[in-house]
Amino acid sequence: MKQKDLLKILDVPSPSGWEKAGQKQWIELTERVSDRVETDAYGNAWAVLKGTNKDAPRVMLEAHADEIGFIVRHVDEKGFLSIGPIGGSDRTLAPARRISIFGSDGIVHGLIGNTAIHLRDTSKDKTPEWKDLFVDIGAGSAKEVAKRGIRVGNPAIFESSATEFHGDHIVGRALDNRIGGFAITLALQELSKKRPAATAYAVNCVQEEIGSQGARMAAHRIDPAVALVFDVTHATDTPGIAVKEHGLVELGKGPAISHGAANHTLVVERLISVAEKHKIPLQHEAVSRSTHTDADVIYTARNGIPCALISIPLRYMHSPVEMAAYHDIESAARLAAAFVKSLSEKDTFRIHG
Ligand SMILES: [Zn+2]
Repeated sequence: MKQKDLLKILDVPSPSGWEKAGQKQWIELTERVSDRVETDAYGNAWAVLKGTNKDAPRVMLEAHADEIGFIVRHVDEKGFLSIGPIGGSDRTLAPARRISIFGSDGIVHGLIGNTAIHLRDTSKDKTPEWKDLFVDIGAGSAKEVAKRGIRVGNPAIFESSATEFHGDHIVGRALDNRIGGFAITLALQELSKKRPAATAYAVNCVQEEIGSQGARMAAHRIDPAVALVFDVTHATDTPGIAVKEHGLVELGKGPAISHGAANHTLVVERLISVAEKHKIPLQHEAVSRSTHTDADVIYTARNGIPCALISIPLRYMHSPVEMAAYHDIESAARLAAAFVKSLSEKDTFRIHG
């Protein structure tokens, strides 16, 4: 699996609540590098690679499968659609963009209308509210919209094909968090070459962008002894970002590990030591209270699951031109595999021993 496989993955839509197509593809990839893949009612999927020692801790490598998007809220008599967000979609960059709407007869192409600069009072230009945006699918009436298989409640995403950018960089929508799902697949591929002591569950969870709902179900069900969560974090190395406030994370300088809150100190220590041993570059991030990732609900599941967050730097998060460095994705996967290999029955990850 390589960079070009990731580009194909990124072209499959997977808005929160409608992850079926993305998950199908992830299952096909992970089936080749695991013993079995299982799913649950809402579409969480996990690949299991059995370890050689049943007393070694069961480890979960988790990512989220969903992406932000839009949902059709209303269809007016002239055939224009109103939309709302699925998750943290950014309405300021929505006008004049093409979208794909998933209707009952398949994809319908649409665009978010933008009144021409000549026709509007630009002195009154401001960030549009969701209710101000409208989608044009080239239909003349509500009836015609219905005929094309579109109704209230259909999901949509930006149309934006993933591309390679100057070799190591990848640009597109939904890198958050398809690259995390890809990283845990790469880790599983590495582990499948020589089974480690610990049994590994690579878990791709649904509905993170709308409150980590899938991770709640999966953490409870799989009940791991330790969990690593793979998501993206803001690369703050572009102009105008207050690094004293947000910290500095740079693209291409390796995955970032977080400190505080969900991040169990002993799991973090182990990650740092395996990274040093294998010469994997690491960056550091501080968490005041919440990681805003699936780690928040995994570590508080059941009796408390020792957890750590590994984040891949990403520029322009929640836009159609998210940018990541392929090298960082590979480094995150190497870190995951090295961590799993380091586990033995002695590892209980209990603060008080
Ligand atoms: Zn994410």
